[in-house]
Amino acid sequence: PEVDASPLLQHLNPEQRAAVTLPNEHALILAGAGSGKTRVLTTRIAWLMTTGQVSPGGVMAVTFTNKAAKEMMTRLGTMLPVNVRGMWIGTFHGLCNRFLRAHYKLANLPQSFQILDTQDQLSAIKRLMKQFNIDEERFPAKETQWFIAGCKEDGLRPQAVTARNEEDRRKVEIYQLYEEQCQREGVVDFGELMLRSYELLRDNDPIRQHYQRRFRHILIDEFQDTNRLQYAWIKIFAVNPDGSPGAGNSVFAVGDDDQSIYAFRGARVGNMADFVREFDVRHQIKLEQNYRSYSNILDSANALISHNKGRLGKNLRTDQGPGEPVRVYESPTDLAEAQWLVEEMRHLVRDQGTEPGLRRSEIAVLYRSNAQSRVIETALFNAGVPYRVYGGLRFFERAEIKHALAYLRLLENPNDDTSFLRVVNFPPRGIGARSIEQLQDAARAAGCSLHDAVSATTGKAGANLGAFVARIDVLREQTLNLSLREIIELVLQHSGLVEHYRSEREGAERIENLEELASAAESFVMQEGFGRDAVALPVDELSQSPASQGLDPNQPLLNEPAPDYVAPDAETGETLSPLAAFLTHAALESGDNQAQAGQDAVQLMTVHSAKGLEFDAVFVTGLEEGLFPSERSMSDHEGLEEERRLMYVAITRARKRLYLSYSQTRLLHGQTRYNVRSRFFDELPEGALKWLTPKNQNFGGSAFGFGTGYASTRAGSGGGSWSRDSRDNRDTFASPPVPVQKAAPSHGLKSGMQVFHTKFGEGTVLSIEGQGDDARAQVKFGRHGVKWLALAVAKLTPVP
Ligand code: ATP
Ligand code: MG
Repeated sequence: PEVDASPLLQHLNPEQRAAVTLPNEHALILAGAGSGKTRVLTTRIAWLMTTGQVSPGGVMAVTFTNKAAKEMMTRLGTMLPVNVRGMWIGTFHGLCNRFLRAHYKLANLPQSFQILDTQDQLSAIKRLMKQFNIDEERFPAKETQWFIAGCKEDGLRPQAVTARNEEDRRKVEIYQLYEEQCQREGVVDFGELMLRSYELLRDNDPIRQHYQRRFRHILIDEFQDTNRLQYAWIKIFAVNPDGSPGAGNSVFAVGDDDQSIYAFRGARVGNMADFVREFDVRHQIKLEQNYRSYSNILDSANALISHNKGRLGKNLRTDQGPGEPVRVYESPTDLAEAQWLVEEMRHLVRDQGTEPGLRRSEIAVLYRSNAQSRVIETALFNAGVPYRVYGGLRFFERAEIKHALAYLRLLENPNDDTSFLRVVNFPPRGIGARSIEQLQDAARAAGCSLHDAVSATTGKAGANLGAFVARIDVLREQTLNLSLREIIELVLQHSGLVEHYRSEREGAERIENLEELASAAESFVMQEGFGRDAVALPVDELSQSPASQGLDPNQPLLNEPAPDYVAPDAETGETLSPLAAFLTHAALESGDNQAQAGQDAVQLMTVHSAKGLEFDAVFVTGLEEGLFPSERSMSDHEGLEEERRLMYVAITRARKRLYLSYSQTRLLHGQTRYNVRSRFFDELPEGALKWLTPKNQNFGGSAFGFGTGYASTRAGSGGGSWSRDSRDNRDTFASPPVPVQKAAPSHGLKSGMQVFHTKFGEGTVLSIEGQGDDARAQVKFGRHGVKWLALAVAKLTPVP
C-alpha cells in the first residue's frame, strides 16, 4: 500500500502500474502505439530507484536514438533528484562505445580508437578492393558492405563464415582483409562496436560476471526493432554462454510488433517470441488504452494494420472522443501539395477563436523518403515559415565537415588511412591519382600506413606528399596546448579548407558550417566536461574473479559518473584527448538527430525517424503507389506488410489532427512520375475520413492494377524550383557560442611546469583543463610523447 501511494504511480492506469511494479524478473510489455510503453519504462526506472531496489549505477536502459535517450534522461531528472547523466542510458552503439572505451585493452583496441560511420566504411571498402584488384563489377562495394555488416550482425568473424561457392569465398576474403585494415588503422565500424563488446562479454568471465551483477535491471524500448546481435548482447547479461543462468538480473522489454519497421536493416521481430521462450518470461502485460490520439485517428490506424497477417494481436482503444476527421487531399502536382501544406499550417498556427493555435513545433510533416523534403522545404522557405529537417544528411555527414574531421583525425592518428585519402589532395595540391596509387603500393609492400610510406616516395609526387605530411605534423605540434575550439580553428585555416570554399560559388554556406563545427566542439566540451569519467581497472585485476578481488558487484567497476567518452587508465591515468572524445561524439551523433533548435519550427522528417514521437498535427505526404508503399516493397508480401507497419507508425504519431495527401504527378530524382493513389487509402475507414478534394474514382489504386501505373519521363532542364536556398534551413546544430570558462589551475600544476610520472618519466605540462576531480593535464614527455592524464588518477609530482 505504501508503494502504491507513490506519486510516481498516480498517473498510470492499472495495467501500466502493474508493469511498472513487476517483481525483479524478466518481462515483456507488448502494446500498441501511444499506450504508454515508453512512459512505463521510464517510470519503472524511477520507481525502482525510489523504492531502493536499485542504485542509478545498477540500471541499463537501451533506447533507439540518442534523442530518445536524452528525452528519457530529462524525464527521469524531473522525477528524481539523481545525476542521470552518469546512468547507462543510451543507444546500443552508444553503450557499446562506452563499454569498449572502459575496456579498450581487453578489447584489443587503441585507447583513442575512432568510429567509422557508414560513409567512411564504404570508402574504406572501396579503397581495399582497389588495392587488391578486386573486380568492383562482380563485387559491388555496397554489397560487400552489406555482406560484412550482415556477418557481424550474425556474430560471424571471417573464419566462421561458411562459404558455399567461389564467390562467397572471395567475399569472405574481402571481409578478412577489411578487418585487418581496420585493426591496423585503429578504427571500428558500427557493427564492430556491437560485436566486439559482445565477444568481450562472452569470452571474459570476470567482466561478464561483473556486469551481470552490476546491471540488476536492463530495460529496452522499441524491442521489436532489435537485430540478432543486439538480442545476443542483451542475453549475455542474463544468461551465460553455456546456457547457465547469470546473476539473476532482469530484462524488461517493451515493444510493438506492429511498429517493426527496420527488417531491411536486419531487425527481427521474432526476437520477441525468442525472448519469451529463451528467458522463460513469466510476466507479459498488454496495454490497450491509447492516450495519444482521438478515435478517428486511432480507428484509421487499427483498420489499416488489420490488413496485416500474423500479428501478435492487440487492441487499442481511447476514451477521447472522435475528434476531427482525418483530412485527405489530392493535388495535381507535388508543388501544389506543398503549397496546400503551407496554407493548412497557417490555419493551424493561427488562433482560431475558442481553440488556441498550435505551436509550430507541434506540427510534423512526414514523408517516406528524404528526397521528398526538397519541394516542401522550398514552399516553407518561400512562405517564411521556420522549419527544421531531421535526418537526411546530418551535420556531421556533410562533405565539408567530413573533410575537416579527417584533418582532425589525422592529428590524433596519422595511421588513419581513410582520413589520409580523404584529404591528401583536398583542397587540391597537385597530388594525382597515380601518385596515390603508388603510395598505396609502397605502403602495402612495407606493411605500413600511408603516412609512414610517404618518406620512401621520390620525385615531384614525393615532394608534394612530403609537404602534405609535414603540414599535418606541424599542425599537430602547433595544436598541442590549444583548446579544442582553437585546434579546430587552426586546422580550418591551415588545412586550406576555408580558403578553398571561399573561392567556391556556393562555398559560403560550407564555411558557415565549418564555423559551426568550432561552436559544436565548444558546447561539447562544456557539456561533457572531462576527467570525471570511468576509470578502467588494470587487466591483471580483472583476470581474477571479482569476488576473489573483493570487488563489490554492486559497485560499478568504473569510477563514475561517466559520460560516454573517457576512461582513464587506472595505472597511468592516461585518458582520451578532448579532440579524440569529440571525434567519437561526431561519429556517434552523425547517425542521429541533432540538438533541438531554439526557434519554434515545423518538424520535417521521414516516417522512420518519427518512431516513438508524437505531435498535435501530422501531415503524411506523398501517399502514392511506388512511393508509399515503396516500389521495391510492392512485389513481395513481407515488404508490403512492412510498409503498412510504417504507415501505421505514421498515422499514430498524431494527437489531434491528421492529414493525408498525395499528388497526381511528382518530380523525383529528375523524373516526372504519374501517380496512382496509395492502396492504403482503401484500407482506411471511410467514416473517419474527410475528403478535401472530391474522391476521384478513376484515380483509385485498383483501376490501374498493381501500382505499375505510373510512367516516367525525363524532366526538362531541372527548373528553378529545384535550386534550393538553404541559407535559412541549416539544421541548427550547436547552441549559440557560450563563453568559455577558463579553468583554474588545480592540483598545484601550471602549464610550463616540469613534472614526473612513474611510468612516463619526466615531462612538461602543456595545458590543464577542468577542475577538481575533473582536471586533466596535457603533458609532453621526452620518450613517450604527448599524453592526456586525468589528475585524479595519474600521480604527477612537480620536479623542482
Ligand atoms: P509509441 O508506440 O509510439 O512509442 P508509447 O507506447 O511508447 O508509444 P508513450 O509515448 O509512452 O507511448 O505515451 C503516449 C502518450 O500518452 C504520451 O504523451 C504519454 O505521456 C501519454 N500517457 C501515457 N500513459 C498515460 C496515462 N496513464 N495517463 C495520461 N497520459 C498518458
Ligand atoms: Mg514509445
